[in-house]
Amino acid sequence: MTENMTAPITIPEHALLSASSASRWLACPPSARLEEQFPDTESDYAKEGTLAHQVAELKLRKYFLEPMGPRKFNNRIKKFKEDPLWQDEILKYTDVYLEYVQKAALRYKTSPYVAAEKRLNFSNYAPEGFGTGDCILIGDNTLHIIDFKYGKGVPVSAEENPQMKLYALGAYSEYSFLYNIKTIKMTIVQPRIDNISEYEMTIEKLLNWGEAIKPIAQKAYGGEGKYVQGEHCRFCRAKRLCRARAEFNTSLEEYNYMKPPLISNEEVGQILEKARHLAKWVKDLEEYALGACLNGEEIPGWKAVEGRSTRTFTNMDEAFEILKKNGIDEAMLYERKPITLTMVEKLLPKKKFEELLKNYIEKPPGKPTLASQEDKRPAITNKITAEEAFKNGGGIINE
Ligand code: SF4
Repeated sequence: MTENMTAPITIPEHALLSASSASRWLACPPSARLEEQFPDTESDYAKEGTLAHQVAELKLRKYFLEPMGPRKFNNRIKKFKEDPLWQDEILKYTDVYLEYVQKAALRYKTSPYVAAEKRLNFSNYAPEGFGTGDCILIGDNTLHIIDFKYGKGVPVSAEENPQMKLYALGAYSEYSFLYNIKTIKMTIVQPRIDNISEYEMTIEKLLNWGEAIKPIAQKAYGGEGKYVQGEHCRFCRAKRLCRARAEFNTSLEEYNYMKPPLISNEEVGQILEKARHLAKWVKDLEEYALGACLNGEEIPGWKAVEGRSTRTFTNMDEAFEILKKNGIDEAMLYERKPITLTMVEKLLPKKKFEELLKNYIEKPPGKPTLASQEDKRPAITNKITAEEAFKNGGGIINE
């Protein structure tokens, strides 16, 4: 069974309490209303993501819902390629997503119900809340929500992910009349950084979570509750001028107890944690102040100036011709540089790349760098372990 075969490619819309912004409004409920006064501008990265989603949707529809000949499919792809943000690698990465969905569908005992880019209404839990689920599979008492993410910044985990849980609640509200759903599977496919994150929960657990967030969602809808700053501020349109964030980043009272002349390692940890937020906030403020100055507003003590620039040839070909005529050898004018491994990777399909070059690739250990405890990488140390000391034939570990 499949959804409506003639459904058009979806035009994205946004809800005040959207699934994609849930981690923010759940942590800081009044942010939903506060950010309403700021324009919702779409970055080039977001536009690129939208384009990749449209290609992913087309492929999913072609395979599961709306069989189409190569001519029609290629014409649609050709249209996408006219977009200035088009990159051929979109085809490769959307293939990874399609392959994942195909394999997931094959794991069902009988063909599952499939829906692509489905608008999911979870307003029973969050007022006027809705979002768009990239792919839904239903069968064998299991509802599987699959989300395609084109970003390559931070790997996104499906585990207890509020966006995925809200999609699942919306899908459950829509389909529980037709299907006996007992298990919820959630997957995030983020092919540009090889991240496929899967998570599973019972329907009871999901529904309990939905009940628990209802009062928070009500507060968010009403613009009530406590402003709470954190990592989620990164995605808030009010982040530059938000007073709660400013006060958090400028308050130093908690360090009043630092009576001894030297601060402890514990205090170093606390200050660095604070500095992490502070650095991001200062960058946001600088961007805001520059925009304000360019708009003719006054930010006392600051002004917009021309930044440093480097000289360039107005016509490099003609300039080089003049140099050659004046005795400079052409070989002196160009550098021959190998392209990077990442650029080579884009030239070939992933499997071919691995087949040809796997013996020529190494990943040396990176230079030690400081990271917060939340970082997934294991901690490293120069301190010799008991096991290493034993291996090296020594019994004493130097402190
Ligand atoms: S910037 Fe942070 S603290 Fe301020 S409203 Fe937005 S999410 Fe809340």
